[in-house]
Amino acid sequence: MARSDLTRRQFIAAASAGSLAAVTSGTIPAYGNLTNKASKLAILGGDPVRKNKAWPEWPYWDDEVLDSLMKTAKSRIWCRIQSPSGTVPTFEKEYAKLTGARFCVATGSGTQALHTCVEAMGIGPGDEVITSPYTDPGTIASILSARALPVLADLDPASYQLDPDEVERRITENTRALMPVHMMGQPADMRRIMAIARTRNLKVIEDACQAHLAEFDGKQLGTIGDVGCFSFQSSKVLACGEGGAIIGDDEALMDRCYTVHNHGTSRRGVTETIGPKYRMNEFEAAVLLGQLSGVIERFRRRNENAAYLTTRLNDIPGLTPQKLYEGTQSGSFYLYTMSYHKEQFNNVPRATFFKALAAEGVSLSPYIARGLHREPWIDHILDSKVYKTMYSAKRLREYREQCACPKCDQVCEEMAMLWASGPLLATRQDMADIADAIEKVWANRDQLTQV
Ligand SMILES: *Cc1c(COP(=O)(O)O)cnc(C)c1O
Repeated sequence: MARSDLTRRQFIAAASAGSLAAVTSGTIPAYGNLTNKASKLAILGGDPVRKNKAWPEWPYWDDEVLDSLMKTAKSRIWCRIQSPSGTVPTFEKEYAKLTGARFCVATGSGTQALHTCVEAMGIGPGDEVITSPYTDPGTIASILSARALPVLADLDPASYQLDPDEVERRITENTRALMPVHMMGQPADMRRIMAIARTRNLKVIEDACQAHLAEFDGKQLGTIGDVGCFSFQSSKVLACGEGGAIIGDDEALMDRCYTVHNHGTSRRGVTETIGPKYRMNEFEAAVLLGQLSGVIERFRRRNENAAYLTTRLNDIPGLTPQKLYEGTQSGSFYLYTMSYHKEQFNNVPRATFFKALAAEGVSLSPYIARGLHREPWIDHILDSKVYKTMYSAKRLREYREQCACPKCDQVCEEMAMLWASGPLLATRQDMADIADAIEKVWANRDQLTQV
């Protein structure tokens, strides 16, 4: 399999070349396109900033990906247990190397990776895991599938990540683990989350499903907690349709992960515990292996483009790009996100701003409509036999009362999100179009009341 033989050092060099550094050193000029400052919005009949130009398509593929798939088809090794040199075992080795983890177990999805970890840690009925309400449903599905209780803690509304103070407030004697989610592909507040976990003797399962290759305090996301989980679902920055992976350094725990994900059957061929069958198949791994050679280059391009956008957008009072925590060295920029401050835009609804921007040729969207604390699964579990048996009536009553997450509600209302897996691979001129379009709508916000 042809892939670049990137070493850990080369990776760090690539990551730090990402222009988060350039932003802080001010080497990227703020462009301000003066012609935009007073012109008619496209939605009112003016000239759009961008027309008839496409964005890079996603998911990514090239001839190397197709060759890799074809090779697997012809080999007739279609299942991971057929050969130790098949694509799944090979991908596991390569992904561990790429992330700096000792071990990797590939799975059929990010949700499966998370659930496997919950089971492998022996977390089940009666136990509690604290996580975010602002995430993919797969995050809580992994806890619910083990019939443990997902306890939702509110957010830092500037970073869209778990607020460590809120996490701390929700710890009970039954809390077993924390599941921080690195939203948008950028690091959660891992210094504080790890400090809480250490003091309270809790496990940490990093939901890094959006956060491939991102670095925090000299480590890649997924290698800071006890285990880290990734998704390779179509939209993610490393994609194979559906797929996932667990990484970790604890040999015994990672061995249990293998056993759980393999219907309870160990690498030694002994069926010894409860487990679903969550194996990645060889075609999925073939697609992943076929694109690893360019993955660092694409990661670096997204970081450079994101940093450029941030320098341009930072000057617009009506929008605030996602806050990054101290210790952040790079992000995966699965999404490029900011908060829309309606009051700065003459109280024009976010939907009107999006419509005006779309007319200029740039699409932003609201992303998650409402937090998981507002979805009906809560009624379902509070009414279910297993939860009523395994948790006291008092605990379930408190649980219901703790469900409010007003900061998450605020984030859902303010979010302005750009899908970034493909678009952030575009050229600097494409990024300038995005910033120009946003600046134009901002500069002409008085016209939005006529829309
Ligand atoms: C995508 C995602 C998941 C679930 O991954 P799947 O591969 O879709 O199962 C979990 N958490 C987060 C934050 C995600 O973005």
